[in-house]
Amino acid sequence: PFDVLVVGGGPAGAAAAIYAARKGIRTGVVAERFGGQVLDTLGIENFISVKETEGPRLAAGLEEHVKSYDVDIMNLQRASKLNLGDLIEIELESGATLRSKAVILATGARWRDMGVPGEKEYRTKGVAYCPHCDGPLFKGKRVAVIGGGNSGVEAAIDLAGIVAHVTLFEFMDVLRADAVLVNKLKSLPNVTIVMEAQTTEVIGDGKKVTGLAYKDRKSGEAHTLELEGIFVQIGLVPNTEWLKGGPVDLTPRGEIIVDAKGQTSVPGVFGAGDVTTVPYKQIIIAMGEGAKASLGAFDHLIRTSVP
Ligand code: FAD
Repeated sequence: PFDVLVVGGGPAGAAAAIYAARKGIRTGVVAERFGGQVLDTLGIENFISVKETEGPRLAAGLEEHVKSYDVDIMNLQRASKLNLGDLIEIELESGATLRSKAVILATGARWRDMGVPGEKEYRTKGVAYCPHCDGPLFKGKRVAVIGGGNSGVEAAIDLAGIVAHVTLFEFMDVLRADAVLVNKLKSLPNVTIVMEAQTTEVIGDGKKVTGLAYKDRKSGEAHTLELEGIFVQIGLVPNTEWLKGGPVDLTPRGEIIVDAKGQTSVPGVFGAGDVTTVPYKQIIIAMGEGAKASLGAFDHLIRTSVP
């Protein structure tokens, strides 16, 4: 069995594995896709001390760093269940079962997409999901924000300070964000709000986004808007489907509830990164949380198990 088994191979999982391995304990990482969301990212300019890098390069760096320690990496393996026994058990879709004294859950999250033509094709070519990451790339340009919940309205306020103009699109006839945010948004001179709009297509010139097509749900009329960027803010979904109905407490949205040390509701089970309740989903935050959960797990081990 392992002392620490990490589920997930993104920034949080990689940091957790390195911190555990450096304690000289038996460490394993099981990941569906080592590298995680970083593999789908082009430019990264907010990973402090590295002015500029690219996702696949950072992912390769994560793997190289983890591999420089004695860590058992099980890539392309999907965890399907967590059971409690003498040890904590992780069942894999392949049928195998892994056992460990402590487990760190770092299965990340995924952005919900609009599911319209052109969205996939122009991802990282104008279609973006993270205003903190990609906002500055659209300085002085025209952008749309899709979604009128808290994250959409926050994104629109944030972007309005950087870009030339923001158009916020909401599907329903009401913005679901907090009133204080909605009031702030409405006070901004370079923001337009379009209600009851259904986005229908991302338009581009083959290289980058040039516009957005949408339908007015009331009149049924089709419109297009010329712009350079589209920020999709219709939800970040934690990868916890496999934990539903299990012993670890999740929020109604499916996030793993963790305390300041990354401890979940189950002793010996820790969580880190985008999959947890920790606010602000970013690479540097996920890494810090992975380190913290790993130290939390080590603390747990020295208190509960005989070496
Ligand atoms: P993830 O990176 O999501 O990793 C999760 C890991 O768990 C993966 O290895 C996955 O395969 C694995 N996994 C999932 N389910 C299972 C399962 N059942 N069994 C086994 N393994 C499983 N952040 C920034 O700081 N700067 C940026 O510029 C930036 N740009 C971004 C651009 C895009 C397009 C996207 C999508 C995200 C961007 N982010 C950026 C956010 C950043 O990528 C995430 O905050 C970060 O990757 C979270 O790390 P994580 O380890 O928690 O999760």
